Amino acid sequence: MPSLDDIAAQVAGYDPDALPVAQAQAFIARLVPQVQAVESLALRSALGRVLARDIVSPIDVPSHDNSAMDGYALRAADLAADGDSLIGVAGTAFAGAQFRSAVAAGHGVRIMTGAVMPAGLDTVVPQEFTRAAPDGRICIPAGTVAAGDNRRLAGEDLARGAVALAAGRTITPADLGLLASLGQAEVPVFRRLRVAFFSTGDELRSIGEPLDAGCVYDSNRYTLWGMLQRLGVDPIDMGVVRDDPAALRQAFTQAAASADAVITSGGVSVGEADHTRQVMKELGEVLFWKIAMRPGRPMAIGRIGTRAAMLFGLPGNPVAVMVTFYALVRDALLAMSGATPQPLPLLRAVSTVALRKKPGRTEYQRGIVTPMADGRWQVQVTGAQGSGILRSMSQANGMVVLLHGQGTVAAGDLVDVIPFQGLV
Ligand code: AMP
Ligand code: MG
Repeated sequence: MPSLDDIAAQVAGYDPDALPVAQAQAFIARLVPQVQAVESLALRSALGRVLARDIVSPIDVPSHDNSAMDGYALRAADLAADGDSLIGVAGTAFAGAQFRSAVAAGHGVRIMTGAVMPAGLDTVVPQEFTRAAPDGRICIPAGTVAAGDNRRLAGEDLARGAVALAAGRTITPADLGLLASLGQAEVPVFRRLRVAFFSTGDELRSIGEPLDAGCVYDSNRYTLWGMLQRLGVDPIDMGVVRDDPAALRQAFTQAAASADAVITSGGVSVGEADHTRQVMKELGEVLFWKIAMRPGRPMAIGRIGTRAAMLFGLPGNPVAVMVTFYALVRDALLAMSGATPQPLPLLRAVSTVALRKKPGRTEYQRGIVTPMADGRWQVQVTGAQGSGILRSMSQANGMVVLLHGQGTVAAGDLVDVIPFQGLV
């Protein structure tokens, strides 16, 4: 296991006191270990879980050439070079049954969608393009079909022996169907990641407690719970922990013993009078970063406890918690869960207003994205952007990302937006 200093040495441009978001992400990607334990789940229970092994198709899907339409199967060689074609009908092929008789030249077979193509026939003409001829044959107007039309080939969906789904994918509804089409009853997935979290700060009260003067209700444990739940990990809520060395020591030790990762909020900013930083240092190998981002400048990162659980010490401000989670923790937890990293979908949207911005840090502003008449997207930032104003996050449907090197944006300029749909 490389030390934090080893990792820092591998990240070009590493500066703990002014760390660009990209460098912080690169550091964390090198730091986090991946869960190894695999469990086998019944197909439906695997939805949203991370596939632990490649799934190799044991069969061709479909298993035979078959018809994509209700119509008539025939030989393309029997179609007239020009003018209408007249084809005799030798019988009917139904889905789920095989048409076994030989079909003579100049003849075809009435066929249903999904029925196996009778031997020798290679093309299907949809029923609606045919007419009954007076002699019982069917008439196909010139130019209606070309050789091979409306025939599905054996193995065209999944070929036997090919990797149908690769390890590392998060199983979607389509994947469930795909696995079912292979007859797969059970699926190997990585065990769920366990993530313990708690809030620190003497001013915090939990729901149900009276709100004493100067206190606020703890909201971070709720946003964190929601984001972790959506991410598909097992959240372990450890409550509010007082700014007291013994209480913090106990909370960190217990969290690190039971979880793969520990997330805290509050107490990591410089000049803080509390004991959180001290106890983190005492129990783990921890770095304190000042990240070149807004919101969310201070952050602690490292390993804690005897099992070296990952530690993500987030700032206390409610918006900063969410933004640092999305920017830095989300991908780390997905990687720990065994998921192959996927780039987030990004919109390019027209900013309705000018946005003041200094180059040299990444800013995440909350915005509301709406479609424009011309088919493009526009984004309106949600008023006050203070990192304590959680309402801005709740109103927004996406985050405007003003990149590290970017300066002030003029009204009408295009900006990057990460939509919350698909984020978590
Ligand atoms: P800190 O990072 O501990 O200095 O906290 C920064 C600000 O965030 C302070 O105004 C705190 O009261 C507030 N804060 C910290 N933790 C929470 C929390 N769990 N819920 C709501 N506000 C919080
Ligand atoms: Mg505090």
